[in-house]
Amino acid sequence: MIPYGRQNISEADIQAVVDVLRSDFLTQGPAVPAFEQAVATYCGVKHAVAVNSATSALHIACLALGVKSGDWVWTSPITFVASANCALYCGAQVDFVDIDPLTYNLSVECLEEKLKLAESLGRLPKVVIPVHLCGQSCDMVGIHALSQRYGFKVIEDASHAIGGKYRNEPIGNCRYSDITVFSFHPVKIITTGEGGMAVTNEARLAKKMQLFRSHGITRNANEMTQAPDGPWYYEQIELGFNYRMTDIQAALGLNQMKRLDNVVTKRNEIAKDYDRALADTEFVIPFQDVDRYSAFHLYVVRLRSDDRGRSRKKIFEALRDSEIGVNVHYIPVYQQPYYKKLGFIKDDYPEAEKYYFEAISLPMYPDLTPDQQRYVCRILKEKLAVISSSN
Ligand SMILES: *Cc1c(COP(=O)(O)O)cnc(C)c1O
Repeated sequence: MIPYGRQNISEADIQAVVDVLRSDFLTQGPAVPAFEQAVATYCGVKHAVAVNSATSALHIACLALGVKSGDWVWTSPITFVASANCALYCGAQVDFVDIDPLTYNLSVECLEEKLKLAESLGRLPKVVIPVHLCGQSCDMVGIHALSQRYGFKVIEDASHAIGGKYRNEPIGNCRYSDITVFSFHPVKIITTGEGGMAVTNEARLAKKMQLFRSHGITRNANEMTQAPDGPWYYEQIELGFNYRMTDIQAALGLNQMKRLDNVVTKRNEIAKDYDRALADTEFVIPFQDVDRYSAFHLYVVRLRSDDRGRSRKKIFEALRDSEIGVNVHYIPVYQQPYYKKLGFIKDDYPEAEKYYFEAISLPMYPDLTPDQQRYVCRILKEKLAVISSSN
């Protein structure tokens, strides 16, 4: 089976991990701060806090921004459930903003409309979490302008997007947001096995996230309620978690950072090849905004149809039968049984509904060979012809 995504591991990556295993520290050693520094420098951002997943990063980002019971957090419905769950962890309520029909990212027009209504109801969100779907940035200038007007904070869920650019600047520089979050799960752009990072330009937020990452414990005398009892002394001043990244993971991530630009270039080349191969078919290829450079975590095509996903399902099954590991990103979060119970209505998200009936993620990873890619495109066209003739 050709998978939809796959990690890229070099001999140097393996050596970097082995070196840590032979060293004094498996966790809380020098590799974690070195990895944080490498990501911060790459993104052009002041602070970076490495954690054990992007899910944890989203959680501590919400906590650092003071999200709590009674607050609202808004995000896109076309995302992984973690983008919404982080708000529920804090006792807040979640709502969704429909997607843009071209980019499939959270729609700034829908956001503005929803904000106007929320203002009149006295239910403005505390935080909005735009998700850079597939690795292409959201319209951050538009979202930032609305955040100024309506007074909400912004967490960019850039789990798909490290190595991407917005207006010629790296995603993660937090020019238009308070915090940006990355994932290093193996299917993502670079990996640490499991892992994530939250980056910010605000020292105050970084400090809080560092506390929440490790039980809420400080060893810094300036933050304590009393003078230390002795050199052993620490204080727990918040209710935090064990969300720490190990040095084993950080060493892998640090070495992967060296190839980040190459890996993203390769992903863009694969995307261009798909674009060319599928240009004259019924598939809608991904729209790329001129001021954005996608990291291309995913390559999503849409099969135009008004048969409520019947054709898409047929193509999907035919591809899987041909050993092509296609996938669907994502089932709208409000359709999940846990969220359905909270009372969301499909009719509120017409674009997300349409997208869900039509989307297919094709195999996309740096080690996908030209032969494999040609095979995927050939089967895709063959199956499409069969389905078109049977309709
Ligand atoms: C993968 C992903 C996450 C969660 O990442 P983990 O590191 O697996 O916790 C969150 N948001 C989006 C959009 C993702 O794709």
